[in-house]
Amino acid sequence: MPKIVGVLAVQGDFKEHIETLNEIEGVEARAVKTRAQIAACDALVIPGGESTTIGKLMERFELDLPVREMHEQGKPIWGTCAGMIILAKEIVESDQWRLGLMDITVERNAFGRQVDSFEADLPVAGIDGGPVRAVFIRAPYVREVCEECGVEVLAQVEGRIVLCRQGKLLAGAFHPELTDDRRVQEMFVAMIDD
Ligand code: GLN
Repeated sequence: MPKIVGVLAVQGDFKEHIETLNEIEGVEARAVKTRAQIAACDALVIPGGESTTIGKLMERFELDLPVREMHEQGKPIWGTCAGMIILAKEIVESDQWRLGLMDITVERNAFGRQVDSFEADLPVAGIDGGPVRAVFIRAPYVREVCEECGVEVLAQVEGRIVLCRQGKLLAGAFHPELTDDRRVQEMFVAMIDD
């Protein structure tokens, strides 16, 4: 039986996530945008895009309900970029809607407006074989994590946290779906069974 990985498809770059996840053996990635479709998955990706828009749509269609249920059942959830903002408990200077599942404080557009996007080679804890090429696009970063809550920092750039994990939750500021390297996707898929 393949592992069903849902990619939340209300807004953002969900197509790229589906394509790259489908390259991994044993994975069937699919677009999900209804409560029933989300509930049928073994894991969920919340993609990059515009976090206020994704949040509004999740709220309007009550998509948080099946996502919270997945979380309670121990199914992994990975938020990239806007998806990371949606997962966070605290967002600096914003009261926008969020799931608030992860004990982290994020800051939006944190690398400055003049540097809209950039790339970096990131050593990632738990990923062997050299650094991961990371693409940042109007990226947030994690300003603070609650270590006592079990949040582990996996990667940083310029001293700023850009990848972290708390139990079955993974949050990243960059876009592994836009490079040829599948090691972050593989790490996430491995979380289904561990
Ligand atoms: N800046 C966007 C936001 O705040 C995130 C950018 C992205 O997902 N590439 O939602």
